Amino acid sequence: MVQKDKKVEEFNWLGSKKPYYIFGPCSAESREQVMATAAGIAENFDNVIFRAGIWKPRTRPGSFEGIGSDGLDWMLEVREKFGFKLSTEVATAKHLEHCIEAEIDSVWIGARTTVNPFSVQEIANALKGHDIPVFVKNPIYPDLSLWLGAIERIQKAGIKDIGAIHRGFQLQDNGPYRNNPYWDLAIRFRSKYPDIPLICDASHIAGTPDLIEHVAQKAIDLDVDGLMIETHVNPTVALSDSQQQVTPDFLSNLINQLTPKSKSSTNQDFKSNLERLREQIDCVDDALLEKLAVRMELAKKIGADKKLNNVTILQIERWKRTLERSLENGSSLGLSTRFIEGMLHLIHDESIRKQTDSLE
Ligand code: PEP
Ligand code: MN
Repeated sequence: MVQKDKKVEEFNWLGSKKPYYIFGPCSAESREQVMATAAGIAENFDNVIFRAGIWKPRTRPGSFEGIGSDGLDWMLEVREKFGFKLSTEVATAKHLEHCIEAEIDSVWIGARTTVNPFSVQEIANALKGHDIPVFVKNPIYPDLSLWLGAIERIQKAGIKDIGAIHRGFQLQDNGPYRNNPYWDLAIRFRSKYPDIPLICDASHIAGTPDLIEHVAQKAIDLDVDGLMIETHVNPTVALSDSQQQVTPDFLSNLINQLTPKSKSSTNQDFKSNLERLREQIDCVDDALLEKLAVRMELAKKIGADKKLNNVTILQIERWKRTLERSLENGSSLGLSTRFIEGMLHLIHDESIRKQTDSLE
């Protein structure tokens, strides 16, 4: 990743350069806090989209709900003084109107709004006729179609500059994270919309400064286009997300620790080795598919016999034994329980489908 005075790749989106760095406080709290945070960031970075929440979606009432549209003036002062682009969260058409009126450079739709198609549509309607760039955060729940649906509503409103922000998901088990990164879903988003810039909100995934570097590096390894990291001049007194915000100095060290990755390499040994290994992987994939087709044929034969003998398709004891057997074999081969379980469930579902189809 790149800091001030180092060469950055030109990229003409949001009039900004890649990687996109979206830094700034969770919430704008006071003019002093906003300006001091921006000044700290400007000491080490010049290619930044400055974020600050103006209207804060809080789970329960009574906590700090954001400073409201007065805070937009402080953001404008940041742009004036440090040349940063600006971004804030909008959850209603009214929020968007304030941002457009104030000429804020871009807005984002938050995770709690992306889950609600009515709200997204209301914002999309208000976006018509404007050309403000919009980021869409993933919905709180791991539902890819809600994320894609929100993007499509914004596209239909005529917005060309759209970015996606991966901020993790609220699952039953979030591991050490505040929000489970569930990287698979970000990869699936990427495969669906390879041209939409994808930014990792490492702060809301990590939930604590100590984990941000690890999350950000993992995101870079997955080829994201940028990072959002919440930065506050004095996180201990922050009015929202105080436990996860970092100081500008911490941010600068953190970005310096990250190892940049590129899509390819000019190293010939690496390239020929990669090609050889990929050929082997293709052979293994072909063999796996052939074996799976054989397995499905066997399941179909069993299905036909079950039908003749009026026996139920689902045999729960047999299924349990199959799973146990494979878990044991898989573990001696170094394959994880999560992987074996996921794979066998898919195979078993398909076998059941094949047997059910043979009944018709
Ligand atoms: C935020 O960025 O401060 C925020 C509230 O994010 P999210 O919508 O991802 O929870
Ligand atoms: Mn926050």
